[in-house]
Amino acid sequence: MDLSYILNILGEERDQYFNAVTPPIMQTSNFAFKTVADFRDAINTEQQHHVYTRGNNPTVEIVRKKIAALEGTDDCLVFSSGVAAIAAILLHTLRSGDHVICVKSPYSWTQYLLTEVFPEYNITTTFIDGREMSQFEQAIQSNTKLIYLESPNTFWFELQDLEAVSKLARKHHIFTAIDNSYAAGIYQHPHKLGVDFVIHTATKYLAGHSDVVAGAVCGNSEHIAGMFRRVFMGFGAVPSPHDAWLLLRGMRTLPIRLEKSASNAEMIVEHFMGHPKIERIIHPFHPSHPQFALAQKQMTRGCGLFAMILKTENKTQVEAFCNSLERFLMAVSWGGYESLIVPACIKIGDDYPAGFVRFYAGLEEANVLIADIEKALQYID
Ligand SMILES: *Cc1c(COP(=O)(O)O)cnc(C)c1O
Repeated sequence: MDLSYILNILGEERDQYFNAVTPPIMQTSNFAFKTVADFRDAINTEQQHHVYTRGNNPTVEIVRKKIAALEGTDDCLVFSSGVAAIAAILLHTLRSGDHVICVKSPYSWTQYLLTEVFPEYNITTTFIDGREMSQFEQAIQSNTKLIYLESPNTFWFELQDLEAVSKLARKHHIFTAIDNSYAAGIYQHPHKLGVDFVIHTATKYLAGHSDVVAGAVCGNSEHIAGMFRRVFMGFGAVPSPHDAWLLLRGMRTLPIRLEKSASNAEMIVEHFMGHPKIERIIHPFHPSHPQFALAQKQMTRGCGLFAMILKTENKTQVEAFCNSLERFLMAVSWGGYESLIVPACIKIGDDYPAGFVRFYAGLEEANVLIADIEKALQYID
């Protein structure tokens, strides 16, 4: 299936809505039946029917099919946020007494769930660096049920060997899940390398316009069917039809937005690599990255996210650098049209050097972004 077939055609049944090119927002909570027999049949096999929008909604279903196809899985569930999708995978795969192996710097709320919430339900986690296979092997316990990956993660851009981890997990009957948001369903396909579940925050590149919060879990039909009643309908973190429609609209231009954002990042990284005021630039698909060989093996390109460590210990200088940027907004999130920074000095964690700044390159002209950084570097001496 080619990319434009997935994004332009797959899952759309135009003859069902007046051959409108763009599908309608099916803004309804419930669906009516003509007979008791139909009603009874639908309510007992809700997954195959339109009964209630906490289950199936036609606008949401189009997006489910497209995201599943992007990741090469049978099916997908779309949630009201990326974190709801992450929580759903944990709730689906884990029971009291189980153990998780998770990479050490996952998305902050993943860390929160595994360290603060799930231990209350007798589910424990071992956090490992994840760059060496031996770390996975050593962390496996008799009650390990899930290996949770994020490759690359979105602050340090560390990678895990997806094929090797999947193989190891399979041998021990352990599920694997990955937060694949970085690659946006285009630059890396973990399911094809053996990972069971692929998770996305659709808030970032998939929706791409900084106006929707949504998430997705991709997996095989059996698992998605199992998740549908228990964690999807049961916890109810479902997207609104309107948000699903905005997500669909955003996804139409995913490849060209991603291409622009990625090439902007590459140009910025190339321009500032070796700059005397910059200690280090971290971009997982640059030859300077210590895991570049692995990146080339399992990814096709890096995206618009990267980090710079400014050559200073002086927080006032770092703040002046950040405050003076005009084209990089200071805000959380990424994947939209606008370039962004998150400096570590807002206290995102303990193990960051003072000069650490996470960058996201949006869709602006590369030379404008480069000039903005160039100008702000005057505050670093
Ligand atoms: C933002 C983000 C999430 C969480 O997604 P929400 O849609 O904000 O709930 C998960 N993983 C990564 C890598 C993210 O950047």
